[in-house]
Amino acid sequence: MTDRDVIRIEDEKTIQVYAKRDLILQRGSKALVWDSKGREYIDCTGSYGTSLIGYCHPRVVDAIKVQAQTLSSCHGFAYNQARSGLIDRLLKIAPKGVDRLFLSNSGSEAVETALKIARRYSGKQEVVAMVGGYHGKTFGALSATWNKKYREPFQPLLSGFIHIPYGRVEKLEEVITKNTAAIILEPIQGENGVRVPPEGYLKEVRKICDTHDSLLILDEIQTGLGRTGKMFACEYENVQPDILCCAKGLAGGLPIGVTLGRDDIMQSIKRSEHSSTYSGNPIVAAAASATIDVIIQEKLTERASELGRYIFDVCHKIFGQQKKIREVRGRGLMIGIDSRFDVLNVILSAMSQGILVLDAGRTVIRLLPPLVISKDQIDRVLNVLRDIFEDKGLDSESNQNV
Ligand SMILES: *Cc1c(COP(=O)(O)O)cnc(C)c1O
Repeated sequence: MTDRDVIRIEDEKTIQVYAKRDLILQRGSKALVWDSKGREYIDCTGSYGTSLIGYCHPRVVDAIKVQAQTLSSCHGFAYNQARSGLIDRLLKIAPKGVDRLFLSNSGSEAVETALKIARRYSGKQEVVAMVGGYHGKTFGALSATWNKKYREPFQPLLSGFIHIPYGRVEKLEEVITKNTAAIILEPIQGENGVRVPPEGYLKEVRKICDTHDSLLILDEIQTGLGRTGKMFACEYENVQPDILCCAKGLAGGLPIGVTLGRDDIMQSIKRSEHSSTYSGNPIVAAAASATIDVIIQEKLTERASELGRYIFDVCHKIFGQQKKIREVRGRGLMIGIDSRFDVLNVILSAMSQGILVLDAGRTVIRLLPPLVISKDQIDRVLNVLRDIFEDKGLDSESNQNV
């Protein structure tokens, strides 16, 4: 099939929900990807963070191969070693107090599960979510997601959801009631521009939840598994969630979601009240087990922490005097570079120079590179971005000042 056919089929035969780039990805290894013409890119999108340990990690490839030749499917009515092996590993890395889980197939599904369990356990309906929060686009997850653009065409969503400003404890105190089943939030907001809340915020939220008998649901779909320099971002404040959602990079890029929680909470949902046909699929489970082993054995959490600090140092040097940059935010290898411009042209210009980056809102460049990215690659990425922001290679006339 020619490149033109590839593009034509996806454009003409699928619903047009993605802002497509002119890019056919063919192959990947570690933090690099190659397009159909053989051009190489340093990938700081990490396929939206799913390529956490790098593309096609040999340990994951082997695990998938072996499992695909052994048992490719196993519904939850039966037991299976690949699944139990993953459950074991997940509970070993999970925050304290989390001891039971449900496996699913995506971040949204992990959030759906969390919301159902919160209602089931508490017998209450209301959920407090955050302005700027992103939890996915299925109806339940979408009800917790904030962005109007995603929500409005699909009203009515679930009732009982309200959104309050992120990072402000007093706002939570104002709205939380005896009918609040749960608070759902991201420890660092991803989609909303990589927002790190004030120090102590999570801890305060935890306290308020306890006082009002509401559950704390942490969405660590983007922040989890070493991304921020801790296995889970809630460890920065020693906060234990009641329910924790994880997905994205967990299965080396294969589709997976997981909802973990305190035993009594997770046990509140009864037989057949929830299920998912692919739950704990053995091939995906084997890939996820290999991924967790790699994160631990290659010390990728520590690596994310070190490289994150390195990026902040370099950014401080090269963007410190740069008026077009408002702020560099984030933790570990979850970085937001907030500019005073619409960043679309920055993204396209970087791509033409072999660098793939994400946005997070109109003005923020978001980096979610594989945790195996090298220092040299980071230098190259930041140099290219600096040159673009210094106007070399960027048509600033077409950039609206915002
Ligand atoms: C990506 C993401 C989701 C949704 O995951 P999907 O796999 O796209 O359904 C939910 N919450 C957060 C924080 C995310 O980053």
